[in-house]
Amino acid sequence: MRRLWGRDISAMTLRKTIFLDPALMTAVQHRPGLLLVHELVHVRQWGELGVIRFLWRYLTGYLGGRWKGLSHRAAYLAIPLEVEARVTARRLE
Ligand SMILES: [Zn+2]
Repeated sequence: MRRLWGRDISAMTLRKTIFLDPALMTAVQHRPGLLLVHELVHVRQWGELGVIRFLWRYLTGYLGGRWKGLSHRAAYLAIPLEVEARVTARRLE
């Protein structure tokens, strides 16, 4: 996963499969439970939207941020599907 997407990616969800960096599961400071909730929100989003609509919304959300001049990281954080996942996970803190 890291070879494909980059070293700063610690988790990723593709449809119903969640990929997590094993190191995160033992690192208390990363709060693996909240990360898992975040990724489970993406599983639900994939299921509700289907592959094409999920990927379309994700990509256009990112590109919209870049179009507005946001950095890669800021555009990623502003993707509405990512915002929803973060907000949901934070509710459980
Ligand atoms: Zn996410």
